[in-house]
Amino acid sequence: MAAKKKQTPMMVQYQQIKDQYPDAFLFYRIGDFYELFNDDAIKGSQLLELTLTARNKSVDNPIPMCGVPHHAVQNYIDILIDKGYKVAICEQLEDPRKATGMVKRDVIQLITPGTIIDEKAGSAKENNYLTAVVKDGDDYGFAYTDLSTGEMKVSRLDRLDAVINEMMSLQTKEVVVSHEFPAATVKRFAEMNILVSYEDEVTVQSEVSFVTQHIADALEKRVLEQLLTYLIATQKRSLAHLQPAVEYEPSQFLKLDHSAQRNLELTQSLSTGHKSGTLLWLLDETKTAMGGRLLKQWLERPLLNIRQIERRQDKVAALLKHYFERSELQTNLTKVYDLERLAGRVAFGSVNGRDLIQLKTSLEQIPKIKDTLLKINETKAFDDVLDHLDPVDDIRDLIARAIVDEPPLSVKEGGVIRDGYNEQLDQYRDAMQNGKQWIAALETSEREKTGIHNLKIGYNHVFGYYIEVTKSNLAQVPEARYTRKQTLTNAERFSTPELKEKEQLILEAQDKSTALEYDLFAEIREQVKQQIQRLQKLAQGVAALDVLQSFSVVSENDHYVRPKLVAHKHDIEIVNGRHPVVERVLGQQKYIPNSVTMPKDTNILLITGPNMSGKSTYMRQLALTVIMAQMGCFVPADQATMPVFDQIFTRIGAADDLISGESTFMVEMMEANAALSHATANSLILFDEIGRGTATYDGMALAQAIIEFIHDHVHAKTLFSTHYHELTALEDHLPELKNVHVGAIEKNGELIFLHKMMPGPADKSYGIHVAKLAGLPDSLLKRADQVLQKLEKQGAELEQQQETAPASASPQPAVIAESNAGDEQQLSLFGEPEQPVKSLDKASQTVL
Ligand code: ADP
Repeated sequence: MAAKKKQTPMMVQYQQIKDQYPDAFLFYRIGDFYELFNDDAIKGSQLLELTLTARNKSVDNPIPMCGVPHHAVQNYIDILIDKGYKVAICEQLEDPRKATGMVKRDVIQLITPGTIIDEKAGSAKENNYLTAVVKDGDDYGFAYTDLSTGEMKVSRLDRLDAVINEMMSLQTKEVVVSHEFPAATVKRFAEMNILVSYEDEVTVQSEVSFVTQHIADALEKRVLEQLLTYLIATQKRSLAHLQPAVEYEPSQFLKLDHSAQRNLELTQSLSTGHKSGTLLWLLDETKTAMGGRLLKQWLERPLLNIRQIERRQDKVAALLKHYFERSELQTNLTKVYDLERLAGRVAFGSVNGRDLIQLKTSLEQIPKIKDTLLKINETKAFDDVLDHLDPVDDIRDLIARAIVDEPPLSVKEGGVIRDGYNEQLDQYRDAMQNGKQWIAALETSEREKTGIHNLKIGYNHVFGYYIEVTKSNLAQVPEARYTRKQTLTNAERFSTPELKEKEQLILEAQDKSTALEYDLFAEIREQVKQQIQRLQKLAQGVAALDVLQSFSVVSENDHYVRPKLVAHKHDIEIVNGRHPVVERVLGQQKYIPNSVTMPKDTNILLITGPNMSGKSTYMRQLALTVIMAQMGCFVPADQATMPVFDQIFTRIGAADDLISGESTFMVEMMEANAALSHATANSLILFDEIGRGTATYDGMALAQAIIEFIHDHVHAKTLFSTHYHELTALEDHLPELKNVHVGAIEKNGELIFLHKMMPGPADKSYGIHVAKLAGLPDSLLKRADQVLQKLEKQGAELEQQQETAPASASPQPAVIAESNAGDEQQLSLFGEPEQPVKSLDKASQTVL
């Protein structure tokens, strides 16, 4: 191995370090650059668009290399992390000028997708969650953390589905498992584009034992310890800001599986993937980053407990009653910075003077916020929030005494600590100040002594203090006293023994003063660190208050009402409800309110009506109203009474039908199955045009069977929209099912959608009206009309025959018997034509 022998000591060191981080890009610091070598360099140069060069070019096996300047490193790290890779940062641990032999180097941090602390603008209202899973028999221990805020949650889940659902809801980018974890599941995680990291050893240091010490469940403890071990291994820095783990159970919350979250566009628009146009976007009037994050958490986990919901409602109601105090609160909240992430930076030791001033400004708002809250606390609604609002006076006062109002970014160059905070520092500063005054006086006296009027005393980093004389005045320089230091084009610079002496005193004082400032700053930071848990508790109070004021603002602006939630009663009565997002977009005047009336004995509404009439909007409207109500917000209606739902299942919309390569129909059936197997009588099911993904009879047969199953076995409140008009006959057979339809009128030969829900089934001939609107030839439309009438006549005759036949011959509604080839003509006009239709197929395919 000739090439091996030739390895320089540095490459030997590199390889030793790299061997410990085989799955990460190793950024190896050399001077002002981070270098990548070998495979890292080859792959990295492609991903980062860097020039690939080589080290030791002259030898037989040159080492591939590429590098990035240290000041721009963050950008490159972000790119790799974004693509799902890890980056190990290897620093020089000693000053190369002072080192004897090889400069010591080691990895100071392993940055991974789940642990990156994203300080980019716009990310403040997002959490970045790292997750961990362990398996024990049929159960899973599941934990997650956001390293920037220190939030820690843990749960025991009894199904893999539940684990996957949690991971998707949290949008985790990285999961920590052990090598014992089932490989098939690891593969599934990887398919979900989640980076799988391994941690086998579990060695939790006492510094973070407070995170787990109160957890009794062994499985939960194990998963937390696995997560903590991974954090310690990657971060290699203080984790004092982690919060004691909170146990949660997904069943404490309204369950929204991932497809429901997507379909209902809670936090991400289906069409753009952005926040705009979502329920989160609508509800977000928060003033702080913490509030923004908490709002999203509340939205993803609406409550089940009526008392808890009412406690939130009480606060919203109190805020609504006090307009003036509310705007006062908003003004003060706006000045509260991200306390949770500030606390994180304090723990990591990356906090600077400006951060501390932000902390002080934030803390100064707390007494004001408390005063305002006390004014609106007649009903004691805010007692629990007030309990969280500790103004942490001691820290506020410490920062006020110690840190200047506008500190520089760096904490190492002085100018951070206030005069009067530390006697020794004041003395150094006096010395510097006196020295500078002495120098100013020297300038005057030298001008007089030499007669050189433009003689100047200046300072630079390389030459220190100097006396500068322009070329034209050089003759007057007292050569005996002045020694030459530097020659410029137009001037010469000199020094004198007394200037040199003073310079030394000043520089010494300056060095000592900056060193002392840094020590003092570190001491202050340590004192703040001791209070991190108080700051976190405060942050929670502020965040909750912020979300509640956000609810009150939206509720007032958009005229929402306080919903009445009834336990164990199965009544929905929403008067003049609206879809909050569509209403916001269309404007209040344009939106047509619709009531939802589903008393105890009505569990299924079968909704018919032409395309684009508003069926799916109506269904989503109910789901969003339920979610808002269970978050504790008011709802878009004139009046609302509803039960507390345990789960929402959806099969809506076509925008996401082609994900993951499944056929539309397969996705449809999988979502239907999820609902049918997990829904309870307390669930809400929304099925939009189920069955249309397959052949007509097939689809209609399935749709009917699904409705019957829900009706007979599940008893969940269900909205079912369909273009199979034949299904409306089910009302006669299923007592818990009611037909409703979206009204439309014909005016001057045009069809006008009223977007208004009405009782009973839709008129069958809408399809022909739509075809007319689309401009199909008159003769064709007339023919369609004739065919329709014929079919209706046939249908009626058939029904009559069935009614006269013995009951046992046909227990099903007439729907199935009615299905003959002719129906397709009508269906194709109603919905998207799935099947080519005999006489109409050309026209309907090209026009509709
Ligand atoms: P469908 O599900 O029947 O095909 P949608 O629910 O998608 O119809 O509604 C079609 C369009 O009609 C929506 O984009 C919306 O702009 C409008 N719309 C729906 N409901 C209403 C309403 N209640 N008031 C006003 N416009 C509505």
